[in-house]
Amino acid sequence: MKNVQILILTLFIASCATKPLSLEEVQESITATETEQILYTLASDEMKGRESASGGYQMAADFVTNFFEENGIEPFYPAYKDSLQTKEVWSYNLVGSLGKFEQNQPTILIGAHLDHIGVKNENEEDPIFNGANDNASGSTAVLQIAKFLATKEWNQNVLVALFADEEKGLRGAAHLAERLKEEDVSLAYMVNFEMLGATLTTGENQVYMTGYNLSDMPEKMNTYAPEFVQFLPEAKQYNLFRRSDNYSFYQIHNIPAQTLSTFDFKNYDYYHKAGDEAEKLDVVNMNKVISTSAYVLAKMLEDEVTIKLSEEE
Ligand SMILES: [Zn+2]
Repeated sequence: MKNVQILILTLFIASCATKPLSLEEVQESITATETEQILYTLASDEMKGRESASGGYQMAADFVTNFFEENGIEPFYPAYKDSLQTKEVWSYNLVGSLGKFEQNQPTILIGAHLDHIGVKNENEEDPIFNGANDNASGSTAVLQIAKFLATKEWNQNVLVALFADEEKGLRGAAHLAERLKEEDVSLAYMVNFEMLGATLTTGENQVYMTGYNLSDMPEKMNTYAPEFVQFLPEAKQYNLFRRSDNYSFYQIHNIPAQTLSTFDFKNYDYYHKAGDEAEKLDVVNMNKVISTSAYVLAKMLEDEVTIKLSEEE
């Protein structure tokens, strides 16, 4: 063979060998610029606090639908929509599948609530509750993680969901949890994202997990990114495990279903206030947290890690 042919053959073989995923690869593909664009779009005044009765939620949902379509995320339901009604107002979760869904395979679910509390006190100077931290930040994380994971193939099913009506009593997640149960979808574990825009007091590029002692998920995640997942005493004290969309999946499917967050009650003053705006958030740290989460989830999928529930909470 000519030298040139040997070179081409060598390059071809090298590109076929499966190289384990590195954190650097994830950090290069999830950029702070795009994270910022998504966050600022979802938290913009145009989206009117992403509440379904005002139409703001539907506008945010259209943005998510376009994002899914552009990034090769398949609709799990027609047009991604899982519809539900809360106090006579229709809304819908958006559910996408990464690659082909196979009924008998274990399924991993990654989610965040997309809705917020809308517009209040029309007479106030700033009536719009933008919900940048709660939960445009968590929604941005799910979109960026989905986009990255969709570039690879996995042996397990991976579903991504943006939930409606969390602020109306965790309604969207409860609806999807029940529907997946009826459809015999075998969930292995669920990871939920809530409020990632303020840097955790204990340090940069860290999160805490609710229901920390409920499963070995924190320990498994920390084998890939040491000290990334922390225990927050206040999360246990205020029972945050039961106060977000992870809870329905734990209750209905009896699986590890937990929330990752950086809001520790000391680092953000605008929870459920009109001042919860994108400008208040630390996008650089948020992007680090998103990249590390994407890396950890990708490694768990690569290694087909199993997560076990513990007895105590
Ligand atoms: Zn929230």
